[in-house]
Amino acid sequence: MLESMLALPVEKQIFLAVLGFSWTVYLWEAYLSYRQRRIYRSTTRVPQELGKIMDTDTFEKSRLYQLDKSNFSFWSGLYSETEGTLILVLGGIPYLWSLAGTVSGRFGFGAEYEITQSLVFLTLATLFSAVTGLPWSIYSTFIIEEKHGFNQQTLGFFLKDAVKKFAVTQCILLPVTSLLLHIIKIGGDFFFIYAWLFTLCVSLVLVTIYADYIAPLFDKFTPLPEGELKTDIETMSQSISFPLTKVYVVEGSKRSSHSNAYFYGFFKNKRIVLFDTLLEDYSPLNQAGDQGADPEGHDMPSESKVKPKNKKQGCNNPEILAVLGHELGHWKLGHTVKNIVISQMNSFLCFFLFAVLIGRRELFLAFGFNDSQPTLIGLMIIFQFIFSPYNELLSFCLTVLSRRFEFQADAFALGMGKASQLYSALIKLNKDNLGFPVADWLFSMWHYSHPPLLERLRALGNVKQD
Ligand SMILES: [Zn+2]
Repeated sequence: MLESMLALPVEKQIFLAVLGFSWTVYLWEAYLSYRQRRIYRSTTRVPQELGKIMDTDTFEKSRLYQLDKSNFSFWSGLYSETEGTLILVLGGIPYLWSLAGTVSGRFGFGAEYEITQSLVFLTLATLFSAVTGLPWSIYSTFIIEEKHGFNQQTLGFFLKDAVKKFAVTQCILLPVTSLLLHIIKIGGDFFFIYAWLFTLCVSLVLVTIYADYIAPLFDKFTPLPEGELKTDIETMSQSISFPLTKVYVVEGSKRSSHSNAYFYGFFKNKRIVLFDTLLEDYSPLNQAGDQGADPEGHDMPSESKVKPKNKKQGCNNPEILAVLGHELGHWKLGHTVKNIVISQMNSFLCFFLFAVLIGRRELFLAFGFNDSQPTLIGLMIIFQFIFSPYNELLSFCLTVLSRRFEFQADAFALGMGKASQLYSALIKLNKDNLGFPVADWLFSMWHYSHPPLLERLRALGNVKQD
């Protein structure tokens, strides 16, 4: 088979190699998911060492939730691999390119003007992927997440959100791409350096404006009210010289009851964002279940609620501080900077290799571009298809690194004396998010950006004896 492949013209070899690699990755991941599904199916009892931290009810709920998600991703993965293959085999990319030429010609921009054609191509391509992806994300949100009690969105909110997301993406993507194509065109021999610097600036600008101008288009951010939690967060930030300027609460409960916390910002201007779903005293999901509170306004214990959905969720203040201790550990230990440096080095390397490869006609021939070599198509072919083995390897290494960082951040929180609070916070978060605590070793090694719950608890030293 190899011999007959080598007898083919080089562009055919490239095409088959790209397709073959894509299916190899697909089958590998399908195999890993199969191994993990086998675990979900067979582990029907709480393993003995988890008995103290997870009740049977939660265990079963998370098992069924993860099983549904895994089955869903089997079908959506099969669909997208098939779709991608058909697009390649049937010449979808050159077809869309010529369609973009016709459209931009019709608008009077002149089809010969490559940048205009590229922008129309990009819009059509993102529109296509948004439209074909929509049924899948509707199913995932309104069937699976809904069934397991996470979804908080209405269909109207969801669709409005999708349209807004598409519009915002276009507003960023189109000017950035046209500038990038322009830079590549006029950059001369060292265009890859300018192109890399340009993308570096764009990502810095995006990081700077994202939180203030982009994220608020989608979600409501309110400053954390004055009080014990805010004072404690400020004190903790000071103790490790974290330059905190603001603490926000984001209304994540509008979307789903999954919970999270993060920080962002440059240099001396750092902000912390807490999901309202993370805060026991703040989560509207808890208040929704508080209709049974007595007229004096005293809170009744939420365990008394009839609907299991309204079980109290989120963490208490000391636990929130422990979670933040972990997050600030990422900062203090330089994880954020290390990640930026790695991603920029990678981006530089990719632009350099792109410069080496872009003149190769056979790359364009392989994907059906017989008489033109548009730069945008070159970017797509090289970054997405030719680099895919490298991308897979890199993403695996980053996953391994991320797990190391997680352990280090946990150890940092432990060093701050927050081990036992972090211990109980991790258990609560795992419960609120219905994480399943048992994983196939190969699946988790490949996919988990965070170490499995049990390993993290063990590393925290089983501080909680009760
Ligand atoms: Zn972390």
